[in-house]
Amino acid sequence: MAEILYSSTRGDKSKVTASQAILKGLAADGGLFVPDHIPHLDKTLSELKEMSYQDTAYEVMKLLLTDFTEEELRYCIDHAYDSKFDTEVIAPMTEADGAFYLELYHGKTIAFKDMALSILPYLMTTAAKKNNIKNDIVILTATSGDTGKAALAGFADVPGTKIVVFYPKHGVSPIQERQMVTQEGDNTCVIGIEGNFDDAQTGVKKIFTDPEFARELDEKGFQFSSANSINIGRLIPQIVYYVYAYTRLLKEGRIADGDEINVVVPTGNFGNILASYYAAKMGLPIKTFICASNSNKVLYDFFGTGTYDRNRDFVLTSSPSMDILISSNLERLIYHIAGDNAEVDASYMKKLTEEGKYEITPQMREALKCFYGGFATEEATAAAIKDLFESTGYLIDTHTAVASSVYSDYVKKTGDKTVTVIASTASPYKFTRSVMQALGKDDANADDFQLADKLSEISKVEIPEAVTSIRDAKIRHDKVVAKDALADAVRSFLYK
Ligand SMILES: *Cc1c(COP(=O)(O)O)cnc(C)c1O
Repeated sequence: MAEILYSSTRGDKSKVTASQAILKGLAADGGLFVPDHIPHLDKTLSELKEMSYQDTAYEVMKLLLTDFTEEELRYCIDHAYDSKFDTEVIAPMTEADGAFYLELYHGKTIAFKDMALSILPYLMTTAAKKNNIKNDIVILTATSGDTGKAALAGFADVPGTKIVVFYPKHGVSPIQERQMVTQEGDNTCVIGIEGNFDDAQTGVKKIFTDPEFARELDEKGFQFSSANSINIGRLIPQIVYYVYAYTRLLKEGRIADGDEINVVVPTGNFGNILASYYAAKMGLPIKTFICASNSNKVLYDFFGTGTYDRNRDFVLTSSPSMDILISSNLERLIYHIAGDNAEVDASYMKKLTEEGKYEITPQMREALKCFYGGFATEEATAAAIKDLFESTGYLIDTHTAVASSVYSDYVKKTGDKTVTVIASTASPYKFTRSVMQALGKDDANADDFQLADKLSEISKVEIPEAVTSIRDAKIRHDKVVAKDALADAVRSFLYK
């Protein structure tokens, strides 16, 4: 098998192995690691359709994590995708109103982030062993709500690691916040910031690329890595479920071998949809990548105009995990559509930092033809939840509803009848109040847990353990800092 090496999207020519890229998280020049080429699946889709989720994961990940041995990779996979998930199939699919909802929320923290963050700690500790790392790995994470808890759950009490999570104090749902601030584990630290997700992500990236801080940490026996989707170790496990979804459709006779499908992905940081793009590059027949945004529709505008412009107001919506104006992983797509050109990418990213916008060339736009951008207003999002529930009895969360609404618009506009998979990214119980509001059943006097009880009565869907278990849990983290005080907060946790 050809070895795949990783280098920065921004021009630093040094190449590293997959395990080194996972350990580093972000390249030294602030760019993201990308593979030097994207390998093709070496099993046929018909072979893959007979495989379990775990075996599918192995077949996909072995092609990109080429410096992991089979034994190492299988160890990581087997420990990640086990009874932590409430279903043996790991990612079940439900057909509703003509689309296939790929439910990616059956892990421990009931959001799709579990799909990758269940395995990342194993990949990270295996990578540390392979590279003879003696330092403790400090995972620094910015979260718009779901990554934080999923990363905490994955890394809590993992020997040789510490984890610090920054979340927007006023930008997550009550259940999301409660999940994080009750996190146990001596190696965990959760901090609210007075700012939004972009502030958190920018602050974390700044710490990553500060050589002085890195030296200081090294002296104390620490080094940073990332659990955000800027880490290639997050992205690669996300390719798996697209292959799995396709091959389930094939197995059930919904499509024939080689038929194209569409995917609809509710998008924020562009990690999930980029994983589907990589899946297609690996040979999965995907026709259109439908990128669904909420009112922070910077990506919708980008696909429509070729200009990425973050100069606009940041809107707090009912789909907070998508409240993002700087979609980090778009940088990887920009790099690829520029012909794997780091110079072009670096110049755009510089413009993005300095002017808040950049415009791609007509040739690059041509390469984006397989993407379709759509967005859903708050009203459309709520209507999508209500309509789907009332017509089919199937309940979706606010993020999935953004995708569902965009997909309805897409079908109306294009008449495209291609079999379509919608990434269902969270359990409705993570956003109980918004879901109840959508159903017209909100009660201002009830807290989110009481609302969960009501939602369960209405929907006949059992309240997940992830919600019941935090109901009376003790608050263990209550620190809130200014958005420019992240580095000091990290120091005071690590050097205590
Ligand atoms: C993170 C998240 C998204 C956005 O995914 P990206 O990979 O950041 O585009 C959508 N929905 C939910 C529920 C999420 O947690």
